[in-house]
Amino acid sequence: MISVEEALERVLSYVEVLEPERKPILACLGQVLAEDIYSAIDIPPLDNSAMDGYALHAEDTRGAGESSPRHLTVVGEVAAGSMPTEEVGPGMAVRIMTGAPLPEGADAVVRFEDTDETKRRASGGDPSQIGILCQANKGLNVRRKGEDIAREALVLKKGKVLRPQEIGVLASLGQPTVLVIRRPIVAVLATGDELVGVAQSLAPGKIHDSNTYTIAAEVSRYGGIPKILGIGRDSVQSLTEKLDEGLEADMLITSGGVSEGDYDVVKDVLAERGKINFWTVCMKPGKPLAFGFMTKMEGGREKRIPHLGLPGNPVSSMITFEQFARPAILRMMGKMNLAKPTIRAIIEDAVVNNDGRRVFARVTVTRHDHRYRASLAGPQGSGILTSMTAANGLAVIPEGSKAVKAGDIVDVQMLDWGEERGEAKTPPTVSIVGKSQSGKTVLMEKLIAEFKRRGYRVAAVKHGRHGMNIDWQGKDSWRFAAAGADTVFVSSPDKVAFIRNVNHDLNIEEIVLTAGTEFDLILAEGFRKSRIPKIEVHRGELGDDLLCSPEELSAIVTDAPLDTNVAQFRQGDTAAIADFIERSFVLKAGIVPCSPGKEEG
Ligand code: AMP
Ligand code: MG
Repeated sequence: MISVEEALERVLSYVEVLEPERKPILACLGQVLAEDIYSAIDIPPLDNSAMDGYALHAEDTRGAGESSPRHLTVVGEVAAGSMPTEEVGPGMAVRIMTGAPLPEGADAVVRFEDTDETKRRASGGDPSQIGILCQANKGLNVRRKGEDIAREALVLKKGKVLRPQEIGVLASLGQPTVLVIRRPIVAVLATGDELVGVAQSLAPGKIHDSNTYTIAAEVSRYGGIPKILGIGRDSVQSLTEKLDEGLEADMLITSGGVSEGDYDVVKDVLAERGKINFWTVCMKPGKPLAFGFMTKMEGGREKRIPHLGLPGNPVSSMITFEQFARPAILRMMGKMNLAKPTIRAIIEDAVVNNDGRRVFARVTVTRHDHRYRASLAGPQGSGILTSMTAANGLAVIPEGSKAVKAGDIVDVQMLDWGEERGEAKTPPTVSIVGKSQSGKTVLMEKLIAEFKRRGYRVAAVKHGRHGMNIDWQGKDSWRFAAAGADTVFVSSPDKVAFIRNVNHDLNIEEIVLTAGTEFDLILAEGFRKSRIPKIEVHRGELGDDLLCSPEELSAIVTDAPLDTNVAQFRQGDTAAIADFIERSFVLKAGIVPCSPGKEEG
């Protein structure tokens, strides 16, 4: 049994970068550029305007302002796609649109908004004149010829992976085709007497072949071209016949038939028609994994086609594909970075490793408070393919470690890099604490109103220490809950309440999770024992001491200044307190108000 690293090294030693081909640029997404790309043109081709406005001499705007306009004579107009016909001499301007070439003589563009054009038109003023309301420096709103790409520059280097932006750059150079490393053709064969095709009905004892689909989709995902060979039966003859059809491919991938059962004949075929390199790897799932090459004669010479025999269990075949077939495909495509993107995460479930192999556990990774957390994505049996649909990562438990416990840090290979599953973001939460009668509720009211005015979506949480009374014995809502409903909604034309019966006094973090992503800020009253940011309201007449120790507080709101290092605000200075909360917690979390704040008055 060899290690994962050694197995990968052996697989990669059999695959080579393929030859280049010339193709239309749009067919090259994800392929590696096989030539250096130089530009034959300047981009942009001429100096041009970055704004809709007036092209002029910067000199002529000296001293211009809202109350001291500089008046220029409009001598023409130029739109994108046409060439200017007028020269801009001193005291002159040309009306110009974004992307239009700058007229001879002009060295700056002042945008419409900084001229009196709208006012002039509305008041029927002289259209042959324009008032400039700001001072322009030379070069303002001018895009220089060749500032993006200069003629003869090396724009894209050989080896670059083509993404949408590179394809766009090639188009802007006027290059309809490009030389790239060709995509590998990967032949995919399922093996097993129990398998029937996806459209066939199931006779007793049969199952649908899913591996062909998973594997072919993986081949496409990583840039290869799958060639589906179908289903081979568990006999040397059947497999040999099928595999013969795949010998034109750059690589063969089979699934199933590599364990030690009576009908596991993939190894026998490999041994007969080529050579086995290894057939067990120290990993779980995926221990039975055969690798070698098949041979065929081509032009009088023996050609070797790498053959990866993946295990039959659907999860094992997918995980071993990720570890070995993916890097092989990427290498053939000329890619340099073969490693799976990996993060460090806090694992939320224990995982035991009882036989010293490297475990790949299917996990769901989410992000909370700038940390990744990984929880097991359901049952881990290697036949349970739906666990892969719940997972977005594979936690890697090293062969040396007997177990990881909840809370340990583990490496997680990301199956998808964050695009499919958004961050589990909870809104920033701040709690207002203080002794009874200190003025917490008044401050809450003022802050809520202030944040609404600033355009934020605000949720407020009130902790009822002695229970609360919106639902009592005998009410319909109470009876629904008593009958076992997890949540009861009570709705009316102007309110909806949501009652969830809980078995403990929820902490604020648990409440915030319920709030989802509908809010930009949660203001809570109370919860002084929690670890969320807290602001204490203090009143001199209730004593010098505070409810919380200063280290626990983000700020203090008081009518009697205290001798402490914690930020202090005056009672009633709501705007300053809101500024502090906005700056320290809301903007930091990357939240901006979703509707513009309403002006007061
Ligand atoms: P094997 O490695 O051939 O012993 O197969 C192991 C397990 O995977 C068996 O339960 C097979 O039925 C199952 N299996 C093998 N090939 C496929 C396939 N193409 N699609 C779905 N399940 C498969
Ligand atoms: Mg089988």
